[in-house]
Amino acid sequence: MTTLLVSHPSFLEHDTGIHHPERADRLRAVLAALDDPAFEALARVPAPVASMEELTRVHPQDYVEAIMGVRPGPGEHVHIDGDTVMSQGSAEAVIRAAGAAVTAVDAVMQGQARTAFAAVRPPGHHASPGIPGGFCLFNNVAIGARHAQARYGIERVAILDFDVHHGQGTQAVVGPDRTLFYASTHQSPLYPGTGSPHERGIAGNVVNVPLSAGSGGLEFRAAWADRILPALDRFEPELLIVSAGFDAHAADPLAGLEVETEDFIWLTEEFRAIAEQHAQGRIVSVLEGGYDLGALAESVATHVQTLMRE
Ligand SMILES: [Zn+2]
Repeated sequence: MTTLLVSHPSFLEHDTGIHHPERADRLRAVLAALDDPAFEALARVPAPVASMEELTRVHPQDYVEAIMGVRPGPGEHVHIDGDTVMSQGSAEAVIRAAGAAVTAVDAVMQGQARTAFAAVRPPGHHASPGIPGGFCLFNNVAIGARHAQARYGIERVAILDFDVHHGQGTQAVVGPDRTLFYASTHQSPLYPGTGSPHERGIAGNVVNVPLSAGSGGLEFRAAWADRILPALDRFEPELLIVSAGFDAHAADPLAGLEVETEDFIWLTEEFRAIAEQHAQGRIVSVLEGGYDLGALAESVATHVQTLMRE
C-alpha cells in the first residue's frame, strides 16, 4: 500500500521576514529532496483548506477568526509574538497546513494509504487552543487527531513528538483527555520551558523525557525505547500521528542535541512496528521544526523512505 505526500505551494508564501529560521527555504529543501526518483511511488495530493468545523475541534472559533483576520499588505509583517510572524500569505498557509493533517488522516483511515507525510509550514505543536507561539498558529497534529476521532470514531490516538522543542500546545490538548496520548523527547532547558517528566496528563497519557544539551543518539534511543514506547504499546493506539521535527539533529543551529539521521530512521521503524501491532499500520507524520537545510532534507527523505518501506 502507498504512502501519501501532502503539501501545497501556499506554504512557501508564509513569509516570516529576513533572518527568521522558520523560512520558506526549509520547505523548498524538503520538496527538492522528495523530488528524487526514489520517491516516484509516493501518491501526492495538494493540501485543502481546513473547515471551521475541523479547526474548532481544537481552537475556539474567535481564535480561528482572529488568526484568519490577520491580513497584512504585500511585504508587510504582523508580529503575533516575539518569534511568530504573519505575512500576506500566512492565513492561507496556516489553514492549508491544518488541512494537510486532516487529508493525511482521511487517506490512512480510508485505506488509500498506509502512511502519510504532510510537508507543511508553519509548524503547529507550540500552538495551544487559544495561544499562538513558537512559529505556530494552528496545532496541525491535534486537529488531525480530533478529526480521526470525530470522523472515524476511533477511540485512541497517539501523538509522538521528537522535535527538539517540547510541544506544550499539543500537551495542552492531550493532557486532560485520556483518549489521547502524547509523548515527547526534547532538549531541556530550552524554549518553551515545559515538558518535565512530572507533567503526566490525567492518566499517565503524557510522557515527557527531557534530554540535556549534548545528548546524542544513545540517550535519544534510550528515552524512546525505555520510557516512551512501552507506554505507547500499553495505550494501544488506533492511529499514530507524528510531530516530525528534525531540529534535534546534530547539525541544527537552534538547539544542542546530537541526534543523527540514523536515529530518526530507527525511531520511525519503531513507530511502524507499533502501528502494525495496534493501528493497522496507520501513521500520519506532520513536519514541525528542523532548521539546517541539509540535515532537514536528508532527515525527511530517510524518514519518508522508512514510512514507504513495505
Ligand atoms: Zn523545534
